[in-house]
Amino acid sequence: TYVVTDACIRCKYMDCVEVCPVDCFYEGENMLVINPNECIDCGVCEPECPAEAILPDTESGLEQWLELNNTFSAQWPNV
Ligand code: SF4
Repeated sequence: TYVVTDACIRCKYMDCVEVCPVDCFYEGENMLVINPNECIDCGVCEPECPAEAILPDTESGLEQWLELNNTFSAQWPNV
């Protein structure tokens, strides 16, 4: 899955939302998040993010962000 990280906080460009083929972005408290259960790992959102906030979870050190994306996407509305 891909993960939205702290560069998105108070940013919320919607470019990623527009390109996602499975509509798996959700509104978080201060940022957008990706539902890891719905993301199909296509990667098209990553280069679209002007803040470079989206990273593949294969990168190290993203465990906390993955957990937050998972939690927020279960509680907040789809965008
Ligand atoms: Fe959507 Fe693809 Fe980005 Fe996953 S990697 S959030 S499926 S655009």
